Amino acid sequence: RIDSLINLEKLAVLGHGNGGTVYKVRHRHTGSIYALKVLRFDEDAVAVRQQAAREAEILMRVDSQLIVKCHGVFHNGVGDSDCAGCDLYFVMEYMEAGSLHDVLQMHHRLPEQAISGIARRVLEGLHYLQGMQIVHRDIKPSNLLINNRGEIKIADFGVSGVMAGKLEVTHDPYMGTSAYMSPERFDPERWDGDFSDGFAGDIWSLGLVVWECHVGHYPLIGPGQKPDWATLMCAICFGGKMEMPDTASPEFRSFVWRCLEKDWKKRGTVTELLTHPFVTKWCSMDSIAAEELVDYALEG
Ligand code: ADP
Ligand code: MG
Repeated sequence: RIDSLINLEKLAVLGHGNGGTVYKVRHRHTGSIYALKVLRFDEDAVAVRQQAAREAEILMRVDSQLIVKCHGVFHNGVGDSDCAGCDLYFVMEYMEAGSLHDVLQMHHRLPEQAISGIARRVLEGLHYLQGMQIVHRDIKPSNLLINNRGEIKIADFGVSGVMAGKLEVTHDPYMGTSAYMSPERFDPERWDGDFSDGFAGDIWSLGLVVWECHVGHYPLIGPGQKPDWATLMCAICFGGKMEMPDTASPEFRSFVWRCLEKDWKKRGTVTELLTHPFVTKWCSMDSIAAEELVDYALEG
């Protein structure tokens, strides 16, 4: 655990996100490298602050090889006790090869074996989170990070939720609108009070992510196009079922078919999909898939 920020030296900017910036930093005494995420708040950004507090709370609860580790959360203390108008710092495990989004930007598409390995790791991560009653809610390529061993891990719990039984403690369907959101999150009223437990939404997002790995761009709109939200939302909620092109293997298409089931009650579950042939057929070759992934990630 890191107990203070003063010994961390900024080396480079790794990326910018919604509320802040991520830096590569080095610990002056140990020489260890970390990623430091800095979130900046306005005095009145109540929702953003709550979101960050939730992220901090969740990060402190999780401890798994499948999830990007958080070594400490700090605020700079200039604000009052609930941190109004101050910065929040997350010291995180440094993921050398960047995000899956970065990898896809460089290589455009990945071989099926690597995608199968990604699917398995993310499913195992979601399985772990489910055991902790945590719904991620923002599974997308930029939130899947890769280290120099080719291991992919889930990051970014900014819009995640902790479930109490079957009902969400905080149900805010408009939080973190993203093109990877499931029909039931875009349009919760359609479910007539029969709210999803949320876990199915993460499976939907995973379906889009693996499809994206195969075609190299967000699959529901053309390459390089910006989403027209109304049209996209209509297609996701009311359009016909989306199918992968037949350049993918039958197992791959069947996997995505189970993820992109519009009715969340019929959608594949984590346990079902962990035994799906697309995930199991390469199982013994997992390390090869990981090596391949790290080659892709680091060579660019
Ligand atoms: P977003 O998910 O919206 O891109 P983030 O603030 O989560 O925003 O991260 C911004 C970028 O910083 C990511 O896309 C990734 O490239 C990089 N990044 C985030 N966390 C890490 C980390 N732990 N190690 C290496 N790079 C990271
Ligand atoms: Mg992110």
